[in-house]
Amino acid sequence: MTAAPSSKSQHRQITGKLVIATHNPGKLAEMRELLAPHGVEVISAGELGLAEPEETGETFEANARLKAIAAANTAQLPAFADDSGIVVDALGGAPGIFSARWAGPAKDFSAAMAQIERLLQERGATTADQRKAHFVSALCVAWPDGHLEEVEARSDGTLVWPPRGTAGFGYDPMFIPDGFDRTFGEMTSVEKHGLPPLGLGLSHRARAFVLLAEICLD
Ligand code: IMP
Repeated sequence: MTAAPSSKSQHRQITGKLVIATHNPGKLAEMRELLAPHGVEVISAGELGLAEPEETGETFEANARLKAIAAANTAQLPAFADDSGIVVDALGGAPGIFSARWAGPAKDFSAAMAQIERLLQERGATTADQRKAHFVSALCVAWPDGHLEEVEARSDGTLVWPPRGTAGFGYDPMFIPDGFDRTFGEMTSVEKHGLPPLGLGLSHRARAFVLLAEICLD
């Protein structure tokens, strides 16, 4: 996890308008909600007609950065982007930055989860210890003058089979965060993403957002 230096004064503050460089309505809604208390005016990439750049980076951080920079340059406004995915220890870190791509063009996450399970079985990964995984969220805010603010956080847990729960998205139904006995798919969105005092701030995105708020938001 990239440590966030503690002093706000070393970092540029996010004020006024911020472009959210995502075409994912779920992520946009989540960011609007998280930024509302900070008085930041959110504009979506869709509203500005921004194209989605190809994710050619080799790390979550690099992909978040290239999406934020592309949006900031085109919109001539500060822009926020994120990149995330699930990293499975027994699979050498796969699917990692390819988490969305494993679901194919049909975005079939049941198939992507079944693929992970098949590979875990092939490797004889049956105990909880052998089935460790973590979600990663890398966030980047880029300004048109080239300034960047970046944070990264993770949420550690264990993969179960069969998948459990219908809440959430992606790989949620097979992921139990450490310290719990329910999957993300069995938790409410407030439990998973909500920040304290309402929620538990369990998800990688919630944790990364807290780090970003600590350094860049009033
Ligand atoms: P991105 O839009 O390139 O960041 O793709 C991230 C992919 O990782 C998503 O499509 C999901 O498959 C997976 N992912 C990221 N965050 C989560 C989460 O909180 N729950 C379940 N799956 C997630």
